[in-house]
Amino acid sequence: MSVHTHNITTALKAQFEGPQPDMEIDNVSIDSRSLQNNSGTLFFALGGQNRDGHQFIPALMAKGVLNFVVSQIPEDAKGKANFYLVPDTLKALQDFAVYYRGLYSFPVIGITGSNGKTIVKEWLNYLLSPEYNIIRSPRSYNSQVGVALSVIGINEHHDLGIFEAGISTVGEMRKLEPIIRPDIGILTHIGAAHDEGFTSREQKIAEKLQLFIHVKTLILQNNAAVTALVAEHINTFTWGFDDATAHVNIAKKLQNGGTTLTLHYRGDFEIHVPFIDNASVENAISCIMLMLHLDYSTETIADRISGLYPVELRLQVKNGINGCTLIDDSFSSDYQSLKIALDFLEQQKTHQKKTVILSDVFQSGFDTKVLYGKVAKLLSGHNISQVIGIGETISRELASFPNFYPFETTKDFLNHPLARGFEDETLLIKGARSFRFDEIVVFLEEKTHETVLEINLNSVIHNLNFYKSRLKPTTKVMVMVKAFGYGAGSYEIAKALSHEKVDYLGVAFADEGIALRNAGISTPIMVMNPESTTFAAMAAYNLEPEIYSAKELRAFIAMAQQKNLSNYPIHLKLDTGMHRLGFQENQLKELTDLLRNNNLVSVKSIFSHLSASDDLQFRDFTVEQFGKFEAWSNQLMADLNIQPMRHILNTSGIYNYPEAQYDMVRLGIGLYGVGNDATERQSLQLVGTLKTVILQIKEVPAGDSVGYSRRFMAQHTTSIATLPIGYADGIPRAWGNGNGFVTINGQKATILGSICMDMLMVDVTGISCKEGDTAIVFGESPTVVEMAQALGTIPYEILTSISQRVKRVFFKE
Ligand SMILES: *Cc1c(COP(=O)(O)O)cnc(C)c1O
Repeated sequence: MSVHTHNITTALKAQFEGPQPDMEIDNVSIDSRSLQNNSGTLFFALGGQNRDGHQFIPALMAKGVLNFVVSQIPEDAKGKANFYLVPDTLKALQDFAVYYRGLYSFPVIGITGSNGKTIVKEWLNYLLSPEYNIIRSPRSYNSQVGVALSVIGINEHHDLGIFEAGISTVGEMRKLEPIIRPDIGILTHIGAAHDEGFTSREQKIAEKLQLFIHVKTLILQNNAAVTALVAEHINTFTWGFDDATAHVNIAKKLQNGGTTLTLHYRGDFEIHVPFIDNASVENAISCIMLMLHLDYSTETIADRISGLYPVELRLQVKNGINGCTLIDDSFSSDYQSLKIALDFLEQQKTHQKKTVILSDVFQSGFDTKVLYGKVAKLLSGHNISQVIGIGETISRELASFPNFYPFETTKDFLNHPLARGFEDETLLIKGARSFRFDEIVVFLEEKTHETVLEINLNSVIHNLNFYKSRLKPTTKVMVMVKAFGYGAGSYEIAKALSHEKVDYLGVAFADEGIALRNAGISTPIMVMNPESTTFAAMAAYNLEPEIYSAKELRAFIAMAQQKNLSNYPIHLKLDTGMHRLGFQENQLKELTDLLRNNNLVSVKSIFSHLSASDDLQFRDFTVEQFGKFEAWSNQLMADLNIQPMRHILNTSGIYNYPEAQYDMVRLGIGLYGVGNDATERQSLQLVGTLKTVILQIKEVPAGDSVGYSRRFMAQHTTSIATLPIGYADGIPRAWGNGNGFVTINGQKATILGSICMDMLMVDVTGISCKEGDTAIVFGESPTVVEMAQALGTIPYEILTSISQRVKRVFFKE
């Protein structure tokens, strides 16, 4: 990229102010943390709920960045850098992308739909890359920001673009269309996803179709509800199952562990798709349609489609052997996604030492020397201890890179002692599909059984922001990560939130707080059940106690005196009705007497806990708690002449009583995607999915029994699948014997007989599945809330009961 300052000013309709009006920029950034920020960077200071790009301008100037798109010029920076003043920096980023897109005229494919966009894009990239130098959206960069950044990645070597667009409400597609300006459109599956942002399904479809107003050809499933909304001047190219009115009429049957499609289009021909689920088959058909449109021969199409592979849409963080952390990115290797993966690696602070295992880099459009020159520059900017290059080209091109270990093939590397020597480091494993880096991941991954609790860190951030959106911007947030972050992993949650505005963390016991400190978390931490034996350790680790009794306070003050502490922060807990811990009204005087003129400790906050914030039939009681809290805390503040923070709301409190938010709130269960109220839940995103696999499938004849004590008797021939998860993993036994179910390939499989310690059996009669397939124990369906209701308990208990032997896998898009 090389764009002149004048052209930027014009494209953005900006007001230019700065000392260097005559220069070229060669890259664009919106992330102050990216290590690629340099003197050639044009930085867009985007506003955000938690972070405002403007606040990073001084730090970026110190790194040499010279060009900033801003909605306000920082006073002390005037005259020292180039500023492009615009009313709206996001719109300016999009305007820039529109301008930049206009510089190129090769064909562009635009993809939208409710599901399957990223998979179709990744597959097309794989299917078409032998013929084209493709620029595509990295990962699922399909939002208002992501689309602009994707298009800005174009360079003069590309000759085909594949971009996806995702929207959540009306008006958004109109902004994305001129950025992508597709020539060919693909509409993937339209489902219920993101329905909330629209008044009707029809409105949602019409909005999506806005992406295609300028295309020459639109590929879509023949569906009257959709085609009726397509503008008349657009050529459609449709497909359908057993639908003679579609341009391509398709019959499908399950065969050889996959699906055989018979297509009727200029004659009949067969294509084998190596998947059985409907979603994958439909996505493969979208790809086949595009290849037919581009006049590929049916032989080539059939050959390439047979090589389709499951696409992993996100960077997965996994536990490796010898205390290592693995970032698994074993399906792509191109310059764009390497940038993203290296920035992600940079953010992992668990280990000092960082290793990158990288295959030959493909499909960038640059010639080899230029490309590897750029790769070397990227790598050297990222504090990497060693680079292992696998493949002929990378071995040759990076030969002189410091701490570089070349290998011709993945097998050579796996046979080398180096592969067994990793210890306490973070490894980024990034390779093109053909290099089979998945084998490296399997080799280096900690071996545990196949049950995992997957935690979506993006959803955690979404949920945090949902509750924040209901609060005043000045209200602080304490995030409760007690009980291993409600079973989801306290350290990973705390780390994921370290870039968001979170003011406090709350844990139950001192050792939980110490573990967080040892892992490098520096956010203030309140400990709710501090025991006097741990006071000294708390002081050593900078953990702040909840003080709930005079006896406890005396003990803490004694420790503070002994350790020569002064003004050590403490948090006073008032019992306004919960009757668990806390000072009652008649104990306030004793408390005041202890604290008056005491400078060993300092009251950082006064708080209380609601006992029924989720249940509006107890509204009067809750309001009474507020009344007591207000009166007692006022009295303490007056008597002691202090101004501490005050807080009383938990998740349901935030939702039901935002008027009582005081200075801070304490967010727990909602962060983990579980609201107590049905409408509240609709705004939350799923965080935890408990998954396992089918170990064995067998047929049980009528009259036979299944499991301990013969609690299930087959009435007819029944297919049974055995799953390696049981009550020792935290699945309540009451969920067995026909009461509960798991989801296998989208279908409900009832749990039969008693749940065993480490296993359970489910009914898969009539469900298409095989050994090794995934079973969802909870997640989308059943939800934890459904399980809790059926079992007569609360989601909190289910979440926190999942045993620590179940491996947690975290991911972030
Ligand atoms: C657990 C806890 C919270 C969080 O409650 P949620 O209902 O999960 O939001 C808040 N405050 C205290 C004192 C707690 O113990």
